[in-house]
Amino acid sequence: MFGTFAAVVEINYKFFYFSMIDKLVQLKESALREIGATKSAGELEQLEIKLLGRKSGELTLLLKGLKNLSDEEKKSAGQLANEVKGAIEKALAAKKSELMTGEWKNSLEKERVDVTQPALPVEERGHFHPNTLVQKDLEDLFTSMGFMVLDGPELESDYYNFTAVNIPPEHPARDMQDTFYIKGHSDWVLRTHTSSVQVRAMQKYGVPLRAIVPGKCYRNEATDPRHEHTFYQLEGIVIDKNISFAHMKGVMQAVADHLFGVGTELRLMPKFYPFVEPGVRGELTCFLCHGKGCRVCKNTGWLEVMPGGMIHPNVLREGGVDPKIYSGFAFGFGLTRLVMLKYGIEDVRHLESGDLRFIKQF
Ligand SMILES: [Zn+2]
Repeated sequence: MFGTFAAVVEINYKFFYFSMIDKLVQLKESALREIGATKSAGELEQLEIKLLGRKSGELTLLLKGLKNLSDEEKKSAGQLANEVKGAIEKALAAKKSELMTGEWKNSLEKERVDVTQPALPVEERGHFHPNTLVQKDLEDLFTSMGFMVLDGPELESDYYNFTAVNIPPEHPARDMQDTFYIKGHSDWVLRTHTSSVQVRAMQKYGVPLRAIVPGKCYRNEATDPRHEHTFYQLEGIVIDKNISFAHMKGVMQAVADHLFGVGTELRLMPKFYPFVEPGVRGELTCFLCHGKGCRVCKNTGWLEVMPGGMIHPNVLREGGVDPKIYSGFAFGFGLTRLVMLKYGIEDVRHLESGDLRFIKQF
């Protein structure tokens, strides 16, 4: 009786044991199969929890049955369980690295840049505007003579544009330089000349001073082939002790030689400008007819391109310079006019037109 009971118990124990061994072996096989079929890292992560999760992983649940086994059986079943766990972990790790490498390769492939691919052809290459070409050319010439190249605001105060250069509010010269004003700011103007930078330069750099100021200017003009509301000037200013008319003539001659060739003649004719005393209009022999007279020089043989003069003492004083000690000269070349002469442009309005058929010729 007892023997029978013991045998039944024995059989039950054996049943638990063999069933456990079976289940472990099955678990290992199915786990390895599932791992092998996994397609993504996220899927693999879910599978890892399903198999080895601490609370309800399949292996964890299976091992709970160990307590029903004899010590000896526990030992061998436990050993098998460890082997199964080790095999699953190993397969998981291998699959994980395989998937990651694949994903890494995929992302690398997506981001791949073929450095050997020939560049796309440049269909159109930009270039400088003729104004800029002449401006840069003159900047090179003047810096070679020790001049600074300065800039100034295009939206200028009434003071720097007019009053500071000896054009007080009641002065008739203001009528000839009507410009654009800003609504609500009666004291602001679009500068009518680059001379607006003269006093700014004296105040900022003091004396001695040698500078040019190329830049855009504005006038409220009825436009025609010779007049435009927007144009370019190139201001020049030299102040030091004992500066004379001869220095100015020398600089103008150097510019004339540079632009139109050595041998170009320069003559200085008297002309009034409020900010110089005395003032001159510098004229050059026509580069086209060499003085014989033609359409470009209106048959005079001369081109008026270099207005200038000795800086008026009032202007020096506004800049904080003592006219008893220092003297200087200033000139304001019509940069736009020089561009037109150099390239034979018959209508000033082409320059600001933005018409590519015009611009592409330079
Ligand atoms: Zn001529």
